[in-house]
Amino acid sequence: MPYVSGKKMIKHAWENGYAIGAFSAHNAETIRAILLAAEQEQAPIMIQIGQRVINTLGLQQMKDMVDTFMAECSVPVCIHLDHSRSFEQTMQAVRAGFHSVMFDGSHLSFDENVRITRAVAEVSHALGIGSEGEIGKIGGTEDDISVDEKDAFITSCDEALAFAKQTTVDYLAISVGTAHGMYRQEPKLAFERLKEIRDMVKKPIVLHGGSGVPDEQVRKAIALGVAKVNVDTELRQAFTEGVLDVLGKDPDEYTLAISLGRGTEFMQQRVQEKIRLFGSSGKAADF
Ligand code: 13P
Repeated sequence: MPYVSGKKMIKHAWENGYAIGAFSAHNAETIRAILLAAEQEQAPIMIQIGQRVINTLGLQQMKDMVDTFMAECSVPVCIHLDHSRSFEQTMQAVRAGFHSVMFDGSHLSFDENVRITRAVAEVSHALGIGSEGEIGKIGGTEDDISVDEKDAFITSCDEALAFAKQTTVDYLAISVGTAHGMYRQEPKLAFERLKEIRDMVKKPIVLHGGSGVPDEQVRKAIALGVAKVNVDTELRQAFTEGVLDVLGKDPDEYTLAISLGRGTEFMQQRVQEKIRLFGSSGKAADF
């Protein structure tokens, strides 16, 4: 199956009332876990390449690795750049052949965020790939970039509308009460605000910080216009639990294929659960 552009994938999810799982990959095994889960569920998915793995393995290296595993994949896949904080890196991802890119200018002034996000969106439109922008700060720690919870706020409707119009991005990440990483207490999503923003902006919404959000709240968010849910921490957790399952029984088990293999199995299960929760199971046939 050839790759699918993020724009096409998210539009389909948005119009059909489900969400695409955007799952973060960190190495060959995690790429495989995501693809095996997608194959098993016959689901379209996004593989996200984030800042931490770009700093360690490299952007082009991750793209090449996904390409290698894709040769055997029959479901629609999109490679997405997560939380880029520079125009240059975003363009590198475009040149490397990513199918969706996020420029995150949420730490910048509104005008500066609009200026760069719009430039990214224009290039993306011209090439037929997807673009994501962020308005409002999402709490927690992401790729070593920390947003103090006091600093995280709920995106205002006016800001979301102005940002969406001026940037022309295809999908919009907003802050409605989620945070990156695991929660100290149960999150309570701002559904009323989400609904208001959906009604005004009329574009697919992206929910960051998908780990640890209770299933009921995720379902409700999708019903209110969320068409892409980012998940990272829970998947790393599942992978690590798999590795520990092997090492806990035998600390002298040095065959990485065994420990990393168990990690892959555990993570695949978690990705499958998320795919079913997001309603994207079985949707591969629509592409
Ligand atoms: P979590 O690590 O909380 O799942 O968030 C992932 C994310 O939003 C990546 O952009």
